[in-house]
Amino acid sequence: MAATLWDVVIVGAGPAGLSAALVLGRACRKVLLCDRGTPRNWASKRMHGFLTRDGIEPRQFRELSHRELARYPQVRFRSARVAGAELLPDATFRVTFANAATVRTRKLLLATGLFDRLPPLQGIEKFFGTSVFQCPYCHGWENRDRPVAVYGQGQRGFEMARALTAWTRDVVLCTNDGPELSPRAKRELQRNSIQLRTEPVARLDGSAGKLQRIVFRDGSAIERSALFFDTPSTEQSDLARSIGCQFSENGGVKCGTHSATSVPGVFVAGNIIRDVQLAIVAAAEGTRAAFGINRALTREDFARKATGEKRVEHAFPK
Ligand SMILES: Cc1cc2nc3c(=O)[nH]c(=O)nc-3n(C[C@H](O)[C@H](O)[C@H](O)COP(=O)(O)OP(=O)(O)OC[C@H]3O[C@@H](n4cnc5c(N)ncnc54)[C@H](O)[C@@H]3O)c2cc1C
Repeated sequence: MAATLWDVVIVGAGPAGLSAALVLGRACRKVLLCDRGTPRNWASKRMHGFLTRDGIEPRQFRELSHRELARYPQVRFRSARVAGAELLPDATFRVTFANAATVRTRKLLLATGLFDRLPPLQGIEKFFGTSVFQCPYCHGWENRDRPVAVYGQGQRGFEMARALTAWTRDVVLCTNDGPELSPRAKRELQRNSIQLRTEPVARLDGSAGKLQRIVFRDGSAIERSALFFDTPSTEQSDLARSIGCQFSENGGVKCGTHSATSVPGVFVAGNIIRDVQLAIVAAAEGTRAAFGINRALTREDFARKATGEKRVEHAFPK
């Protein structure tokens, strides 16, 4: 593998990276897909809203994806953490793994995703993925018309509580002693029959992954069958930063046409763009990046043969 000049190294084999690998494999590209095995939905039992795969176990989704990729022998998989990547003077990249092994590639696709920061509530780990969630589009349907809690402070909590009204009219917003909401926000919550509990939470109670109640530090409790939270998420990897990609105001990697970043030859896909953070969108972003990468490679090779010109095609706005 070391001597190969890969067309593309993809870092991250979630829906974004897997989908990109499929499109690039079908475009006859030499692809090295690398993953360290820490998907964002590690705690999830079912993946919803992915057309033809609604309710599939995430592990099975990955297995099916790898089975499809196996039809394309130019796509190889490496189970490893990518530790760094650098742009070389000849406009290729050296990618370094955690064990110090290196490979070279013409294009780099970063599909390294995000991680959720769980709210600091005692017992939350036991429920994450079964009755504690970060996305109503993923798990709202299963909790429709049920008594749900929202955890979030300031505007985040307000917005998640508002979002949940599409699924249930029984919402309690818990701010856990966070900053006070404006009188207007409180009025709007009240008019939508959303209860506001501002006192500190002591713990989450329930059994077998099923949330039953939220216990406050003053001893009072509310019966709830699910909790949706909105807390800031973090990048799984600092590769995009370390290679010099620009970031947008919302914290996502900035990209132009076909997911080209500000660094020529580097593309991004999936949650690190911080657009709609659903699996099918991540997969589509992977497809879009793959399209951009293959287009650039084809044009570069065509130009070299036609005119001898060595250039890097890259569609990031100046
Ligand atoms: C509890 C939970 C439930 C969810 N349920 C749903 C749902 O029902 N429906 C839905 O549409 N979405 C759901 N999501 C969201 C969904 O998981 C994400 O939208 C999706 O996983 C994003 O795909 P991605 O490819 O961008 O990133 P990920 O799936 O997170 O994949 C990124 C990959 O990159 C790898 N990686 C990171 N850094 C490196 C590195 N340096 N070297 C090598 N590999 C690296 C990681 O190991 C990981 O496998 C859920 C999320 C959570 C947390």
